[in-house]
Amino acid sequence: MIGIGIDIGGTFVKFFVLNEKGDILRTSRIETACTPKAEEFIDKLALFINNLKKEYAGQPVAVAVGAPGDVDNQNGILRYNPNLKFANTTDWPIAKQLYEKTGILPRVANDATLAAWGVYETDLHRQGTNVLVVTLGTGVGGGLIINQELYQGSNGSAGEIGHTKIADLTTAPLCGCGARGCLEAFVGTIGIKRRVLEAVKEHPQSELAKLVHKTKDFKIEVVFQAAQKSCPAALKIWEDTGYYLGIGIANWVLTLDVDTVVLAGGVSGASPYFMPALIRVLENQQIKTPFKRLKLLVSKNPNVGGIGAALYAIHHAKKLS
Ligand SMILES: [Zn+2]
Repeated sequence: MIGIGIDIGGTFVKFFVLNEKGDILRTSRIETACTPKAEEFIDKLALFINNLKKEYAGQPVAVAVGAPGDVDNQNGILRYNPNLKFANTTDWPIAKQLYEKTGILPRVANDATLAAWGVYETDLHRQGTNVLVVTLGTGVGGGLIINQELYQGSNGSAGEIGHTKIADLTTAPLCGCGARGCLEAFVGTIGIKRRVLEAVKEHPQSELAKLVHKTKDFKIEVVFQAAQKSCPAALKIWEDTGYYLGIGIANWVLTLDVDTVVLAGGVSGASPYFMPALIRVLENQQIKTPFKRLKLLVSKNPNVGGIGAALYAIHHAKKLS
């Protein structure tokens, strides 16, 4: 069986083609903004799938699509996404439209959910029974493996760790979702940028301030570079990031009693700088049992979204057969 994983990101759509053994047979990508029309966008995805079907004629092909936002996983509908520019991305029936053009009914799930399956298969080799995966990037997403299966909740909305609240709902900084107090508004890249700009004002002579002024558009890498140069302002940014993330993760571990937490996504690369503060928050919990043997890991795979989608497509199709 061949699995096609399609990971719709803010900038690129990434395609991953894998076999049952987990070998990557093909990768490709197109710009998410390649067309403003949802229907033309679906045509491009369908073209990729149909070409693969021809190439692997005789072999069953399974498809899964990871979409950013709120996904109805039962019906393959992207209910809501604030970032995609298509005119009709509210209640967008991705599965139905792809089925009409390819003859394959894909699984559609939240992108972080499928990334969690990617982490479970590639980083953990299915070790661990209950796993929380936190994806750290512009957004902060989460995915859950419960009893060794992907858990998507009653509506497909499980794992929205980024929008769980860690601060005051009226005075905390605004999140991209429109609410205040969300974890994402503190540790998503936009939240980190806000804290960096505050730090730059307060410490205009710092290495961090120099690097921020040098770069035209803010990039999270400058905070990493400044930390590498032992800049106290940058180190404080990462320490606070670990603290906030620790609060969010502690809440989930207390709720779910998972055995493993894995951090994934671009910002997880700064874990050497934020992990000590994160671990301190977990160690300081009064209810100790769920934290005692908790494994806290960082994913080594930068493409868990697309790979997870392809592997989940195969896993789901095999379950049905
Ligand atoms: Zn939010």
